[in-house]
Amino acid sequence: MTPLSKRRNGKASVRGVAISNPDKPLWSDAGDGTPGTKLELAEYFEAVGDWMLEHIKGRPCSVIRMPDGIDGETFFQRHSGKGVSSLIDDMVVSGDRKPYLVFNTVESLVAAAQWGATELHPWNCRPNKQDVPGRLVFDLDPAPDVSFDAVVEGAREIRDRLEALGLSPFCKTTGGKGLHVVTPLKPPKKGEAVDWDTAKAFAREVCAQMAADSPERYLLNMAKRERGGKIFLDYLRNDRMSTAVAPLSPRGRPGAPVSWPVSWTQVRKGLNPKRFNLRTAPGFLKSLDAWDVYAESERDLAAAIRRLGGEKTK
Ligand code: ATP
Ligand code: MN
Repeated sequence: MTPLSKRRNGKASVRGVAISNPDKPLWSDAGDGTPGTKLELAEYFEAVGDWMLEHIKGRPCSVIRMPDGIDGETFFQRHSGKGVSSLIDDMVVSGDRKPYLVFNTVESLVAAAQWGATELHPWNCRPNKQDVPGRLVFDLDPAPDVSFDAVVEGAREIRDRLEALGLSPFCKTTGGKGLHVVTPLKPPKKGEAVDWDTAKAFAREVCAQMAADSPERYLLNMAKRERGGKIFLDYLRNDRMSTAVAPLSPRGRPGAPVSWPVSWTQVRKGLNPKRFNLRTAPGFLKSLDAWDVYAESERDLAAAIRRLGGEKTK
């Protein structure tokens, strides 16, 4: 797509949002050896924004700001307030007096780029329903000596386990060293609302069973992570105020990787998460169909919990 950015007298604007210091490099290498600039980040959000918004809008969304680039100081910010662009919405959540950042429009994402926000980390609730789990995220975190192919196997095993419980999970790269398995949830039936504590206990039990079946490969306890050779199954993304990086969000890491939705046929030996970065992703977007049926794949968590309980008593 042709970027709609305009430049005049050294100033740039994207979707009508002024971008100061457009040529400032945020990544010294955006995957192809040349720097990734602030303007490119704004143009990236413009290109992928519509796709991304389905997964972030209406939910509190933290940002990681790196105004001086990924080697400079990093600011993790969840709250809105003075100095935040009026294009970025906010939301009050119970338990915190300060409002949280919310991104509801492509313009708000461009404003995030102007702000130096290289990463977006939304809550996993349903849009505008903070207490209702909208998806579960299983985060596979390999020890440094674990191969990516082993992470791929782990993601496939979580998929199988979730499918056996009636859920319909998807996978994405994180832009880092692991993978996220994301399973969308149906709005609860009347009287069957599942709170976050129960959702987290379910996610924990799925991971605990997997670690118990292959203790040489997986573990549940972060403290033991350093023992090496294993994949830490992080179920703690599944809590009211916990976040996971948004699909298509860039990462403030060398090579400007992005978290990319992959189909289960792509999740196999040889998958290379580094392929998906700030430069390549907009081109891949045209043929992206890995998550096309995401919205139709919402499943009933209460039913999955009942099935898991039934299995345990077998
Ligand atoms: P990787 O594949 O490299 O592990 P990741 O995105 O899964 O990438 P993690 O460090 O495993 O990175 O973190 C998982 C999620 O937890 C992040 O995506 C982020 O949303 C959240 N998170 C991580 N660190 C923090 C933090 N300091 N404060 C708040 N949330 C965090
Ligand atoms: Mn992780």
